[in-house]
Amino acid sequence: MESVQATVTLVRHSPQADELIASAAKLCYAENTEGILAQDKSSAGKFVKLLKKLGHMSPIEHAVFTFYIEGVSRAMTHQLVRHRLASYSQRSQRYVGHDEFDYVVPPQFDGKSVRTDDGQIPAGDYFRETMEIIAQRYRKLNESLGATGESSNEDARYVLPNACETKIFVTMNARELLHFFEERLCRRAQWEIRFVAEKMLEQVWDELPSVFTGAGPKCIRMGRCPEGKMTCGRYAEMVEKYAERKNS
Ligand SMILES: Cc1cc2nc3c(=O)[nH]c(=O)nc-3n(C[C@H](O)[C@H](O)[C@H](O)COP(=O)(O)OP(=O)(O)OC[C@H]3O[C@@H](n4cnc5c(N)ncnc54)[C@H](O)[C@@H]3O)c2cc1C
Repeated sequence: MESVQATVTLVRHSPQADELIASAAKLCYAENTEGILAQDKSSAGKFVKLLKKLGHMSPIEHAVFTFYIEGVSRAMTHQLVRHRLASYSQRSQRYVGHDEFDYVVPPQFDGKSVRTDDGQIPAGDYFRETMEIIAQRYRKLNESLGATGESSNEDARYVLPNACETKIFVTMNARELLHFFEERLCRRAQWEIRFVAEKMLEQVWDELPSVFTGAGPKCIRMGRCPEGKMTCGRYAEMVEKYAERKNS
């Protein structure tokens, strides 16, 4: 058992995505469809930027991206899977035993301490100790059900924590990714999903800048923070952070 950190791998994406999106969009207006599949790369990229500017977003949905995300908590993936316009495959806690599960420790516990009967102890140590205790209880409860695999794992897992490490495949189309970034790069989203979203954006931006230039938390597109009194108060910092991508 050990603490782990997120890794995000872009596994596949639609090849020649600019040309694909341009073909789909131009079909909408094409009296003559001959050559509709033969789009030139550089003019397709410019055309896709224009589509986005005009808000003609549905052709952008034809470009899809698949990520493999590991080293993340179940707390994070519970937030991730709320995004419904995506496809998911997640490692099962029924088919896979979790006797020695890894876990995610929120970095916010660094430097904090917990008061116990034995005095103050570092919060990170206390967290790790808690994981060990849960794993022990999981094993005992699994044994009580006969340690039969799927049929005992499925009930023993009820004691597993939100911190439990998990792995997930996610496929989103480019339009949904833009929406996902708006929600999950916002400072109001939690640190772990923000970290994952940031890694996803870095990788898709490299592959499809015509679509992902200007992607970021929703305040970037809106030109202001819409969160009212819930604002993080860091709009200028967000603009600074995403400005390079926005203006390139
Ligand atoms: C900071 C933050 C705090 C949150 N807190 C909570 C919380 O306390 N409790 C909670 O339950 N959730 C919470 N959420 C989750 C949030 O409510 C959404 O479920 C999640 O962000 C997915 O967003 P979505 O529905 O816009 O996106 P998606 O499911 O990705 O959908 C994309 C878009 O498609 C359209 N769409 C999808 N499905 C439908 C539908 N059935 N009908 C109509 N239009 C649809 C909508 O326009 C939607 O925006 C929080 C999210 C954030 C970012």
